[in-house]
Amino acid sequence: MSERYAREKDRYRKLAEGGQNPSTMIIACCDSRAAPETIFNAGPGELFVLRNVANLVPPFQPDAGQHGTSAAIEFAVNSLGIKDLVVMGHGRCGGIRAALDPSAGPLAQGDFIGKWMALLGPVAAQVSSYTFLTANERQTTLERLSIRNSINNLRTFPYIQALEQEGKLSVHGAWFDIASGELWVMDSDTGDFVRPEA
Ligand SMILES: [Zn+2]
Repeated sequence: MSERYAREKDRYRKLAEGGQNPSTMIIACCDSRAAPETIFNAGPGELFVLRNVANLVPPFQPDAGQHGTSAAIEFAVNSLGIKDLVVMGHGRCGGIRAALDPSAGPLAQGDFIGKWMALLGPVAAQVSSYTFLTANERQTTLERLSIRNSINNLRTFPYIQALEQEGKLSVHGAWFDIASGELWVMDSDTGDFVRPEA
């Protein structure tokens, strides 16, 4: 850890003086195995990263609530002027597993995870009913559907929709396979996740 800091020290100094200017925002899961900076081999200042449980984006909801994820999106798009916004899901996601098994009940008083994952409620209920799939197949299916769902929600933010139409912002989806270390990229036309060529 400290070695890494020593190596990057100059870079930190420059960033402190000049400010940050990343052109890409990544919305990823908190899972310690799916760290965007590691996956993209990015140094300080290169990626604006937001991580939350299961990399979800709520719809644009201008009410009195305290929307941490929406606040980060608002800043990245309107202050940093990022050009690319990536929603990156991953395999074996515990949050997605919880959404598929609501019978497991709350983890603790408050049930913040349950309420957060309710963002996926209707989609999760539908995928849960696909009993012709194995549990693992349902999990991967929901991990990917959830990314498309989050992208749809991003487009409910009026400025994101406008910037995208003006060609000033691109929204992308990706899914990281923890077991193989492969990054599958979503085809923006079909919504399919395409495995990288070896
Ligand atoms: Zn996860």
